Parts: sequence; structure tokens; C-alpha cells
Amino acid sequence: MKLHEYQSKQIFARYGIPIPTGRVASTTAEVRQIAVELGKRVVVKSQVLVGGRGKAGGVKVANSPDEAEQAASKILGMNIKGLTVRKVLVDEAADIQHEIYLGVVINRAARRVTMMASAAGGMEIEEVARVSPEKIIKVLIDPFIGLRDYQTRQIAFTLGLKGDQIRDFGVIANGLYKAFLDCDASLAEINPLVITGEGKLLAVDGKIVTDDNASFRHQDLAAVRDVDEETSSEAEARRFGLSYIQLDGQIGCMVNGAGLAMTTMDIVKLFGGSPANFLDIGGGASADKVAAALRIILADPNVKAVLFNIFGGITRCDEVAKGIVQALGQVPTLVPMVVRLVGTNEEEGRAILAGAKMQTASTLVEAAQKAVAAAKGEEYVAPPPSPPVVYKPRKHRVAKPAAKKTVAKKTAKKATKPVKKAAKKPAKKTTRK
Ligand code: GDP
Ligand code: MN
Repeated sequence: MKLHEYQSKQIFARYGIPIPTGRVASTTAEVRQIAVELGKRVVVKSQVLVGGRGKAGGVKVANSPDEAEQAASKILGMNIKGLTVRKVLVDEAADIQHEIYLGVVINRAARRVTMMASAAGGMEIEEVARVSPEKIIKVLIDPFIGLRDYQTRQIAFTLGLKGDQIRDFGVIANGLYKAFLDCDASLAEINPLVITGEGKLLAVDGKIVTDDNASFRHQDLAAVRDVDEETSSEAEARRFGLSYIQLDGQIGCMVNGAGLAMTTMDIVKLFGGSPANFLDIGGGASADKVAAALRIILADPNVKAVLFNIFGGITRCDEVAKGIVQALGQVPTLVPMVVRLVGTNEEEGRAILAGAKMQTASTLVEAAQKAVAAAKGEEYVAPPPSPPVVYKPRKHRVAKPAAKKTVAKKTAKKATKPVKKAAKKPAKKTTRK
């Protein structure tokens, strides 16, 4: 789950990270009121769960309550990368001298939590990594001994921090690491961590992404989940216990099992298509769950074909077929569908689907090819059968008499060689002795 900037910064503050004073508002009048209370230059910031709000015009500095109200009227209701701004954070504006990046992530390759920092803060770290990766400092954290002071000092020196800033940075880095652990986060980031005109450090932006697998340990965080900010598909998938990730291709995939889902996506790619999603309906999925999954897939306007790849183990093919028919009753669609059902009750499953207009396939290769063709609006053409293998006896070469001689000579030489060697070896050994 992604936390909003204001939520992340409230958590940071509990770990001793300095943040600007401010509050969240959802109307222009509230924004004005907060600006009056703060009595200073403020910054009005859209609270949407995407990065790059600044570039999109979703962050505005205001010199007076009037300006703050004006800024809010522009930002509230604004669409940033497909999300509507419903809330803004009104913070005391910071006097920014320099912007630093500081983040904690999981480095899978190193199997360590990693702290990353860069003096080139402000811009998105992915951009820094692409353009000038040498500007990113990385420190691997041993899970048993934690983040050590020498490590935070090393980062602080590399960032060019001086005097008290080095000590303050240590507090911030440790706070960020602790917050990351306590939230079961996959990312905790301050971008920018600002050096103010007075030389103080201040977390101006904040981002925390928590691991949903640990959400049962964080009822407090579950309460702040912003469902408005989730796509309706993600929310519905979560309600039905489906693992669903939307992608940007054209072929909707419904598969049971994460491994099989990955394989299906790979094979779709192999045959020139691109998957519209990752969707694992899980083992033993009921008809209701399958119907929900199909509704979610069909809600994506990019989907031009749907591929069902079901391996019936615990999952029963007839249940899946029932779910498909049920969903088609609820969401009539013209999107072509290809089904591959194999395993438990596959005959029953196929019989149920016989009435529905669907292409069937017996192998995954065939299913993927059919889905790719259907997504392009093409007819699937079965590859021509490979020609039968005919046994042709090898022609015997008729050796010429001249060639015969040389062959005989060569074989004769070869035959004598090993004998010669064998004779030499013991001789050598005796000379060495
Ligand atoms: P993001 O674009 O979504 O990452 O939003 P940020 O909160 O990081 O803001 C984007 C940029 O706006 C920052 O990098 C700053 O340059 C600027 N900004 C944000 N807050 C302030 C502030 O309080 N004062 C000033 N002067 N600029 C700010
Ligand atoms: Mn930022």
C-alpha cells in the first residue's frame, strides 16, 4: 500500500525526522484558514499517490492566504497522471538551498535492505540512476547489526554535509531505517531532504510503500488506506482475494497459480502479443471468484482478447467454466476469448463452455497463438503440419582405387601411432630416473 505524503511525513516525525508544520485540507476555504494560522509563506501540495506532482503543477508556493486559496482552487480537482486531486497538504514553505535524495529500499540481489542517497535530490531517483548512476551512494544494511554510525557518516560526508548537519543526518537516516522496518515497508523515501537557508535539514516530501503481505500486522495503517486513490479494479481484486496487477498490453490473462501466470505472460510475449495484466485466481477458485476476475479483466478498455489458462489440480475446470459463463451473463462482451482447460474435470468444463462462443486450445502454445491472433483481429491459422519423416537409405560412396590407397595408408599410420607412443613413454621415464 502506498501512503500519502502527509501520512508518510507524520510517521517520519514520530521517528525524529524534522518535517515542516502543516495540515491537510479538502476545500479552498480550509486551505485559506490553514495559511492564516501558519502566518507565513506556504506551499500547497496535491495529495495523490504518484510521483512528479511538482512537474505536473500539483505543488505551488503561495506568499499569502489569498494566493494559497488561489493555488488550492487550481490544484483541487486537478488530474495528475489519471488521479483526481481531492486533498492538499498546506505546509510552511521551506527556504530551500539544496535538495538531497534519501531512501531505504529492499535490494533483492544483495538480499539486504539498502540505504540510497544522492546530492542530486528533487528529481526522481530513477532519472538520476539512468543519467548519472555514479551520483547515487548505496549502503547495504546487515539485518542483525542494523545501520551503523560509520555508514551514516560515510553517506553524510559523501553528500558534503558539514558540522551539526552530520549529526542531524544520522538521526534522520536512523529514523528512516527504523520507520521502514516498523511499517514493514518496501520503500521509505525523503525526496527532497532539504538543506535550508539556515543550514538545517528538513524532510519536505515523503513516501512510504508498505508490503500488503504484512498488512495484518498494521491495522492502524489499514485504516488510512485511501480507497479513492486505488483503481476500482485493484479494490475489487483485493475484495475477492485475487492477485491482480494491471499492465499495458492487450491480452487479458486469467490463470491459476502465480508461476503459471508468469509462464502464460512469457508465452504471450513470445508469440508477439503483450499481456494486459497479471492475474492469479489462486487454487480452488470458486465460480464467483472467476466471475469477478473476468469482470476486472473486461473493465480494462485496452483488452482486445482474453486468454484463460487453467490447470485443474485443486481448482476444478467445471467450476472455472461455470464462473466464465456466469461472468459472461453479467458482462456481455464482444472481446474474443480463448480457453485452455486441462486437468480435473476438464471434460465437464469443456461441455459447459461448448455453448459459449469461445475458441479452445489443447496446448498453451496454441492457446497463446490464438489469443495473439484474436487480439489483432486476425484469424488463427494453424501452422502447416510438418512433413512426414521419410527414411532414405544413405548412398554408399564408391571409393576410387586411388583414394583407396591413401585411406589405407592413413589408417595404417594411425594404427601404428599409439603403439609408438606407448613404446616411447616408458623409455622417457627410465631416462628421468
Ligand atoms: P513531487 O514532485 O511529487 O516529488 O513533490 P515534492 O514534494 O518533492 O515537490 C516537488 C518540488 O517542489 C520540490 O523538489 C521542490 O523543488 C518544490 N517544493 C516543494 N516544497 C517546497 C517548499 O516548501 N518550498 C519551496 N521553495 N519549494 C518547494
Ligand atoms: Mn518529491
